Amino acid sequence: MRNPFQLPPEQAHFAPELERAVVDELYKRGWGAFAALLLVFAVMRSVLSEAIHRHPPIGRVLLLMAAATLFRTLGLVLMRKIPSPRVRLWGFIIGSTLVACGFATLNAISYPYLEPADVALLGMILAGVASGALISMGSSFLTYMFYVLPIIGSIALIVAVGPATRWTHNFLLLGCIYLPALVLLAFQQALAYRREVILRLEMAEMAVRDNLTQLRNRRALIEFMSLESEQVLRSWRTPPDSAHPKAALSLGILMLDIDHFKAVNDTYGHLAGDAVLKQVATILEETARKPDMVVRWGGEEFVIVARDTDRKPPSRLAERIQERLAQHRFSLPSGQTIQVTCSIGYSVFPFHETLPALLAWEQIVSVADVGMYFAKTHGRNRSVGIVAGDRIQVDSEIQAHLEQSLEQAQAEGLVCLVE
Ligand code: GH3
Ligand code: MG
Ligand code: MG
Repeated sequence: MRNPFQLPPEQAHFAPELERAVVDELYKRGWGAFAALLLVFAVMRSVLSEAIHRHPPIGRVLLLMAAATLFRTLGLVLMRKIPSPRVRLWGFIIGSTLVACGFATLNAISYPYLEPADVALLGMILAGVASGALISMGSSFLTYMFYVLPIIGSIALIVAVGPATRWTHNFLLLGCIYLPALVLLAFQQALAYRREVILRLEMAEMAVRDNLTQLRNRRALIEFMSLESEQVLRSWRTPPDSAHPKAALSLGILMLDIDHFKAVNDTYGHLAGDAVLKQVATILEETARKPDMVVRWGGEEFVIVARDTDRKPPSRLAERIQERLAQHRFSLPSGQTIQVTCSIGYSVFPFHETLPALLAWEQIVSVADVGMYFAKTHGRNRSVGIVAGDRIQVDSEIQAHLEQSLEQAQAEGLVCLVE
């Protein structure tokens, strides 16, 4: 049987996000748990005062437990600063285990002074409130088990060593139904909470992914680039520190368009076209590096943002993509295989070294588009890079010039072509 707490392979990539959500939830409700545990003491007041009366150290254990619970809750707040959700989850589990062991100790040391039935009642109420607190926290099953196991264990121990005659069957029956029911409830609750989080994550992901190819869409590119371009420009603004020289960042931006794609649709049908698009997407993802961003720009056009390009135009990447596409045999739903080529235009952001803010990243996409169009009109199946020329100026209206005539902009020294 598959472990129900293990994510199915198609959802495995949500694991870190899920962990983060569970820990954030624990944090939010941590104080609620503290209040719930204080409630234990209120509910059990009469039983506990009887126990303290007969054996004063019980009072000290209770005080210690209240303090441990408070510190656990405070720890949860402090742990918020620790970035790793895994460390935070384990911090919470260890804190919970300590509190639970306190409960178990309470059960065990109350036992000689209280009737076993009282101890059972105490244990069950403790387990119940602890479960309630944890269930309401949407906690993981693991945390829950760490919490209730010591309590259930101590009750089991008392049942095992206690004189059998003093136990009524009713209590045993109650325990048999109540405790498994709590465990089951916590189990279901944790799964339901997880489903809810995954659904939320899936919806957020759907908004930034293209349905057909599963690549990121334009919206994702805008989100990504609004942060990334700011970071790149900042790296150009900070004066170089000779002790810790930090390289200025740059991005390569490529615009790719499949050649004669309409002919694929017309000859083999739309489904065949879709199959080609999916395979192109896979090739692009495999060819680009992990931190790069591959986007379906629309139709049969793709944008690739290559990071850390050392100011060099991404000619090698463009070349590699073209080689891999040209070598690939695209398999169609009919079983046939075809070959396709593509045209690529590319540029770099920032466009100019001494004027990094001259063109915004959106304008670099347009520059790459001009390069791609140039490649189309000059024979297709090739890539054309456009970089800043020597005679570029702030007020040169470079983009308008480019769109009018690339050749003229090149002749005027505004841009250079790289192939
Ligand atoms: P060029 O070499 O100049 O780029 O020629 P082309 O035929 O590739 O370009 P054109 O822009 O004329 O045709 C693009 C085609 O892409 C037309 C459109 O039907 C097709 N297309 C766009 N999106 C999809 C899609 O999601 N699936 C399929 N199968 N076809 C698509
Ligand atoms: Mg097109
Ligand atoms: Mg095309």
